[in-house]
Amino acid sequence: MANREKQDEIPASTGIRNYINGQYINPIQDNWLDNYCPATGEVYGKIPNSSKADVENAHLAAKSAFPSWSQTTFEERSRILIKISELLEDNLQRLAEAESKDNGKPVSLAKEVDIPRAASNFRFFGNAITQFASESHESVGQDAINFTLRQPIGVVGCISPWNLPLYLFTWKIAPAIAAGNCVVAKPSEVTPMTAYLLGEICTAAGLPKGVLNIVHGLGTTTGQAIIEHPGIKAISFTGGTATGAQIAKVAAPLFKKLSLELGGKNPNIIFADCDYDDMLTTTVRSSFSNQGQICLCGSRIFVEASIYDKFKTDFVAKVKALKVGHPSEASTNIGALVSKQHFKKVMDYIEIAKAEHGKILCGGNKVVVKGYENGYYLEPTVIEVVSNDCRINQEEIFGPVVTIMPFESEVEVLEMANKVKYGLSATLWTNDLKRTMRMANQLQVGIVWINTWMMRDLRTPFGGVKASGIGREGGFEALRFFTEAKNVCIKY
Ligand code: NAD
Repeated sequence: MANREKQDEIPASTGIRNYINGQYINPIQDNWLDNYCPATGEVYGKIPNSSKADVENAHLAAKSAFPSWSQTTFEERSRILIKISELLEDNLQRLAEAESKDNGKPVSLAKEVDIPRAASNFRFFGNAITQFASESHESVGQDAINFTLRQPIGVVGCISPWNLPLYLFTWKIAPAIAAGNCVVAKPSEVTPMTAYLLGEICTAAGLPKGVLNIVHGLGTTTGQAIIEHPGIKAISFTGGTATGAQIAKVAAPLFKKLSLELGGKNPNIIFADCDYDDMLTTTVRSSFSNQGQICLCGSRIFVEASIYDKFKTDFVAKVKALKVGHPSEASTNIGALVSKQHFKKVMDYIEIAKAEHGKILCGGNKVVVKGYENGYYLEPTVIEVVSNDCRINQEEIFGPVVTIMPFESEVEVLEMANKVKYGLSATLWTNDLKRTMRMANQLQVGIVWINTWMMRDLRTPFGGVKASGIGREGGFEALRFFTEAKNVCIKY
């Protein structure tokens, strides 16, 4: 209860404004969107729906900051990024409460994962930029040496989704500014609050004005204006696959560099020889963490036939024990889905599952949380399916809904795992090393976890194949994306 009272103390977000040239300003046109709290279903503030003119202002601020920022020493850039990281940590409680109120996720999750990770993003890239070396090649026999300059691109655009708001927003911004670029960034219109608060933190950390500019608004207005702007030379986007395709269509004729981190429908493959208890605990987490609204969630669970019945009983018992509740309650495992529209989409998929003869083993219903009757709460749902080809096994639901089905052989499960348009991640549970290597090689995804899930090392490449995206973020991959390589050949 104490936690909830604290959450309600967060000031109404009527103050959300764009952060341009180091200042909070209103949108040029008096155009505002409602901001909802998913836990209560109520509007608790307004955010700008920024126009092309606002994006142009943000671009002009970034453009004029670029000559100086791109020439700032890497030590100084590193110092400022690490300072931002420290200030994020100092504001952990306030940011976690704001994230939870905007998104519906448990405050405890935002405190343990989202905000610490946002701080890590700045600390990591603040350090990484000091180690980002260029290459040189001596052309022996030709009396020449080649070296590669890694130059910042200029003004770049960063667009992020609502599921891990500050975590993913900063995952793009931190490497972009570390590499010497200036940024026009847009968070999801569904979860704008922590991006808004980031502005004042950057100012307090001494980030020069214009290096980071944050514009709020709808994807189809503000987002589209960023993509179309000829002066914004590269776009790092995380979001849905259909949006990614639309962005690629607009950006391609403008020859923009693109990084697209898109949707997923990830297999979680369980062999009988795994460490059963570890697998069971982690599978509950990989299915329902953040209300199942993580692109990496293992939403298709395939279980070796010999342990299928046991798994089904044990898994369903654990899922039934999860507590759906208000995000600020310490005992809550599953908070609210992010929006009314998204709630409806997930419920529609449960109806599709029934029509496809999926068997609902648990869940499938709206939860009414006392005192918050209009919040978007849903029971964690497990559906047994008979075919990998059904819609709920092929389409991204992005909610607390997983499917389970048995398999007989490695060949069969590999074929089912790969038979989907997405290719983001896969999880494999086995203690057989040879099988591990065979399957890791053949799974058509960008990330494979063996006997674990979502264990992240920020030095490693991150991204998907097929409809899950193009390009890799993370570590030096991100710094490479946010720089142009220019080769210089000197004959001596
Ligand atoms: P979305 O595609 O609807 O929106 C993402 C962002 O793009 C938002 O800021 C939105 O305003 C903006 N946008 C929408 N239309 C645009 C347009 N035409 N031009 C420019 N910008 C536009 O996605 P969402 O619903 O916010 O997020 C959920 C999706 O994100 C899921 O598919 C999920 O799998 C994916 N996701 C992927 C990753 C990853 O790393 N691969 C991580 C998190 C989420």
